Amino acid sequence: MPEVSERVGAPDYDSAIVYAIPMRTRFRGITVREGMLIPGPAGWGEFCPFPEYDDREAAPWLATAVEQATVGWPEPVRDRVPVNCIVPAVGPERAREIVAASGCRTAKVKVADHPDSLAEDLARVAAAREALGPGGAVRIDANGLWDVETAIDRIKQIDRAAGGLEYVEQPCRTIEELAEVRRGVDVRIAADESIRRAEDPMRVAVAGAADVAVLKCTPLGGVRRALEVAAAAGLPCLVSSALETSVGLAAQVALAGALPHLDFACGLDTLSLLTGDVVADPLRPVDGYLTVPRATAVLDPDLLRRYRHPDPERTEWWHSRLGRVRDLSPR
Ligand SMILES: [Mg+2]
Repeated sequence: MPEVSERVGAPDYDSAIVYAIPMRTRFRGITVREGMLIPGPAGWGEFCPFPEYDDREAAPWLATAVEQATVGWPEPVRDRVPVNCIVPAVGPERAREIVAASGCRTAKVKVADHPDSLAEDLARVAAAREALGPGGAVRIDANGLWDVETAIDRIKQIDRAAGGLEYVEQPCRTIEELAEVRRGVDVRIAADESIRRAEDPMRVAVAGAADVAVLKCTPLGGVRRALEVAAAAGLPCLVSSALETSVGLAAQVALAGALPHLDFACGLDTLSLLTGDVVADPLRPVDGYLTVPRATAVLDPDLLRRYRHPDPERTEWWHSRLGRVRDLSPR
């Protein structure tokens, strides 16, 4: 184990570890999740901005890791948080299996993965509903891929096939489009990418663009910063992961645990997308709930050996990226 820095309050950047964990299926175009684990006086923090992000976009991800490694998180107001299962672009049979096996009462179903996806989308949401029964919740995520007209038309059809949708996440790309879709349908609209990229999250609420805000503390710059965004957004919020290991995921669960109100299941059952993890006691849901962590994660030495990045060039790339992003940050 690396020694923690003697400078109290500072992460020990020189001892940071670069990891590489294969994904179960391609997600966001990646097949291997890479990132860094950074030790500090409060434990380990995770720095894992996606490779295509520039240094400026990566800066809040570092702030999240530093918060985790140096001061930890605010006190939670709940012990456990409900999570949704994820149904990727699969056939109805597989969709039914995923939902039934998850133990979750909420299913998030991927739609719009290609332009002619409607028939498949309808079959997939109907299968998810069948597996959940009438008491469960079905939500869909279009990742901003529809135009306004397509969104309104498809949401109405999918809502019917799903026996009622809980909400539609990011049907279109821009805030203005979201507002237009929201006026055209009876289903709640959730803003995801619009919140993450917004300079001013209030703009989403003021524009009447969404009923729900999806927060990710990692790209927002930490749990405390995300709590400020939640307060400023003035909308019901839920928390969703950025595909971290259990180390970074713990920060997201800490955020969900500290939100003053939590009316929706969170998108935090994402470890299942990775083939492995770096802690011995991973943050996996039981009966659809994750326990809010009381402390930062303890790394498992055997797993660290297994997932330490095997490529020295790639390891060097991460360390120099970390150096550049640190230069941008106040700390
Ligand atoms: Mg989303």
